[in-house]
Amino acid sequence: MAYDDNNIFAKILRGEMPCNKVYEDDKVFAFLDIMPRSAGHTLVIPKAKAVNMLDIEPDDLCDLMRGVRMLAPVVKRAMSADGLLIQQFNEAAAGQMVFHIHFHIVPRFEGQPLKPCASKMEDAEILAANAAKIIAAMETA
Ligand code: 5GP
Repeated sequence: MAYDDNNIFAKILRGEMPCNKVYEDDKVFAFLDIMPRSAGHTLVIPKAKAVNMLDIEPDDLCDLMRGVRMLAPVVKRAMSADGLLIQQFNEAAAGQMVFHIHFHIVPRFEGQPLKPCASKMEDAEILAANAAKIIAAMETA
């Protein structure tokens, strides 16, 4: 599959669509999932263009994983989570819906089931509050 510059995450990266950004550097960008599977569900994407694991340049994947590794404990601490699910889907048959590679960091809480993927739009105020928690946790790392 060829990379489509008009995918929603490409638009978010270009600032053409709003998002609840929690982190950005020269290689990666992270923001909250608009339909979270749990509170604080964060998406980490590379600035480099790639559809998924099947076409990303290995060096770009290393940069992306550095971002995931840095953000994982921050998200866990910010949300007072008991654990984290880290997920990444490749192609529609595997559940990929947005075709700019991304890792999901999904906080898990003991006894709390996950919501299904992309099932319900979260309230804007709740997303903003959770983003603020993650940003604050990063600043106090
Ligand atoms: P995938 O199945 O491709 O790994 O997941 C795509 C994710 O992107 C889903 O969890 C979905 O809720 C999220 N998503 C889809 N559209 C938007 C959007 O416009 N903004 C944000 N922040 N997340 C989105």
